[in-house]
Amino acid sequence: MASFITIDGSLGEGGGQVLRTAVALSAVTGKPLHLNNIRAGRERPGLQRQHLAAVRAAAEVCGAEVRGAEVGSRELTFRPEKIRSGEYTFEVGSAGSASLVLQTALPPLLCARGPSIVVVTGGTHNPFAPPYEFLAATFAPCINAIGARLSVTLHRHGFYPEGGGCLVANVTPFGARRRFEMVDRGAVRAVRVRSLVANLAAHIGEREVAVLRSRLNLPPAAARAETVRNAPGPGNVALVDIQCERITEVVSSFGEKGLPAEIVAETAARDALAYLNSGVPVGDYLADQLLLPLAMAAGGRFRTFPLSDHATTNIEVIKHFLDARFDVREEADIATVAVTPAP
Ligand code: AMP
Repeated sequence: MASFITIDGSLGEGGGQVLRTAVALSAVTGKPLHLNNIRAGRERPGLQRQHLAAVRAAAEVCGAEVRGAEVGSRELTFRPEKIRSGEYTFEVGSAGSASLVLQTALPPLLCARGPSIVVVTGGTHNPFAPPYEFLAATFAPCINAIGARLSVTLHRHGFYPEGGGCLVANVTPFGARRRFEMVDRGAVRAVRVRSLVANLAAHIGEREVAVLRSRLNLPPAAARAETVRNAPGPGNVALVDIQCERITEVVSSFGEKGLPAEIVAETAARDALAYLNSGVPVGDYLADQLLLPLAMAAGGRFRTFPLSDHATTNIEVIKHFLDARFDVREEADIATVAVTPAP
């Protein structure tokens, strides 16, 4: 029996990320995990329902025996067994993010013997989590570039806090693992903006699109306000798709009660301009999400913004499980990250 890897859950960013990366890697490596101080510094410390959904998803994929998986628990033990491919359905519950649960189950499924289909119900459009469009257009192509296959389809929108959406992912595990090289994004081919509005006044979408068009200097054909008809609850997101030769970045900003549509759109425009002006191929969010897949595959190199707390925390957690090396060089507001897996 391998000895436990013990991780302090309050490490670095100290939130759900430590937990998700740790259980995913425990499942991948077969090393049992003991996590303590879970979300110690948070207002509501310990495991919350959305974290439990991620732990359960990883546990189901690798038949893990789990202790401490209760709301409020600050300690968890996770003893993985064998990873199984197949068909999985994970129900996240109303407020949780379906994308984050999918991203927790994905690493072990990438190492399974056969393909899997994963159905996740919950929030497909939650603040502080990857929206469906980001998963499909930004994240999945990177997984495909490193020698596995991921495609994600949206069956129903689910906006925070009501949730009730549905994502379906098709996962084909690693074949020959390939190095990821993304230091240059190539020319910007197209910028498109969209505003999705569910069960709220349609003028919200029109106003967001107007601000985005003006700030990003876009023609009418590059902008669309869409009414979403299949979401159980109300919600709104402004999206900017930046399609470059080698990568697509999806910037998002979520509407919330009391926040004017113009501010939602301004936030998206600001983030889109920061990406466009920086010249980097990999945005902030993708940077923290790429570290684990690259360390599991054949490593690689990418250019991004200075690393977020999420990214540096992920590096620390990954190093507990894998003998990977991360070299980060930061100059003039740009970071170059090199990931070298164990020989
Ligand atoms: P945590 O804050 O620990 O729950 O982690 C949030 C995760 O969601 C991180 O991996 C972020 O990169 C990701 N994330 C948050 N907001 C976005 C966004 N707007 N687009 C894409 N990914 C996001």
